[in-house]
Amino acid sequence: MMIQPDESWERLASSIESQIHTVWKQIDQIAETNQEKILQAFQNKKVSEFHFLDSTGYGYDDAGRETLDRIYADVFGAESAIVRPHLVSGTHTIATALFGLLRPGDRLMSLTGKPYDTLQKVIGKDPAEDGTILNWGIGYDEVPLLDNGQVNWDLAFQMINKKTKVIAIQRSRGYDVRPSFTVEEIGDMVRNIKSQHPDLIVFVDNCYGEFAEAIEPPEVGVDIIAGSLIKNPGGGIVTTGGYLAGRADLIQRAANRLTAPGLGSELGAMLGQTRLIFQGLFLAPHFVSQALKGAVFAAALLEHIGFETSPRWSERRTDLIQTVQFHSAEQVIRFVQSIQQASPVDSFVLPEPSEMPGYDHPVIMAAGTFIQGGSLELTADAPIREPYLAFLQGGLTYEQIKGAMKKAMFQLKQDGVKI
Ligand SMILES: *Cc1c(COP(=O)(O)O)cnc(C)c1O
Repeated sequence: MMIQPDESWERLASSIESQIHTVWKQIDQIAETNQEKILQAFQNKKVSEFHFLDSTGYGYDDAGRETLDRIYADVFGAESAIVRPHLVSGTHTIATALFGLLRPGDRLMSLTGKPYDTLQKVIGKDPAEDGTILNWGIGYDEVPLLDNGQVNWDLAFQMINKKTKVIAIQRSRGYDVRPSFTVEEIGDMVRNIKSQHPDLIVFVDNCYGEFAEAIEPPEVGVDIIAGSLIKNPGGGIVTTGGYLAGRADLIQRAANRLTAPGLGSELGAMLGQTRLIFQGLFLAPHFVSQALKGAVFAAALLEHIGFETSPRWSERRTDLIQTVQFHSAEQVIRFVQSIQQASPVDSFVLPEPSEMPGYDHPVIMAAGTFIQGGSLELTADAPIREPYLAFLQGGLTYEQIKGAMKKAMFQLKQDGVKI
């Protein structure tokens, strides 16, 4: 059914847009800063058309790949970086870093509570599970966050011992109910750790965070970060890949793990992806800003009609994820379905909640994206259980997100929500 042009929607949307105007202004400023930083890096490294030529076989002396690594390092304020289509996902990228850094007998500590679902599999529950961190004889300690969402420092310092080698921090909330950590807060964590344990390696899972702020974790002392190219830094156009940026010795170790000792980052034909990865990085600040503007709009609108959101529209943001709390399973299902209907791909498919491996409750997902799993594009997920939270993220154009919210409003209104 088509939504008729609706005067009351136009009025409501305009008033929300005026309300959030100053927050948008800050988002624009961050995008400008990041765009300038990226352009400067391209210009300093004299990026030219020959960098986009493809390499074959071993990919020795691939100038495009080497320049891309340098540019990623510069943009993230790091000594070194490795950016590859051979990193198949964010999880693979993070695992490459962890297995590169840790040796049997070492311990890994998650400072920010339970890590992202897929990383729990990488760590493993039982040392008998093949290939996991535990299976390699690496120990794991988890420091649950306090009820207020902050780091439990007393417990963390109690648990750090001589074997502890890597401290892992997750910037984004992921699909958890806790605030995300700003780069400034991550900087405080680094100072806190290093003041007592200067040799510990601080790793940050930077997924969903890139270019949401004007600075990135290596600029506040983080040793190594990881992220996915089908999220923020791919600008919505990169079809696969991941990146690591950080201290040169640590990137070298991760590169040895990705390829092989003796090969490191010197090998790897780029499979025709180099130009796209350059271009995606160039576009990323703008598309991240579109997603952020949409998230702020959605938050303000849904707050206005009585739903709880996190972050609130006016809160400072460090990632793309917007949580909305609905009142019932039906509402959250209808909301996620509206997002699918507002998508350019598979808009005619009606998602339904279903059981998913690794989840205890049925989950519903809207993902009408060009890139499979690409979550700088507009997507929404919700586990069907109290407190009926929907996780909304991405959107390559503000206009699409606004249109999706119009559909969602229409649906909620039909279901009896007062608007
Ligand atoms: C997306 C994401 C990952 C990695 O997920 P993939 O689906 O493997 O790319 C890890 N941590 C966080 C916080 C994420 O958002």
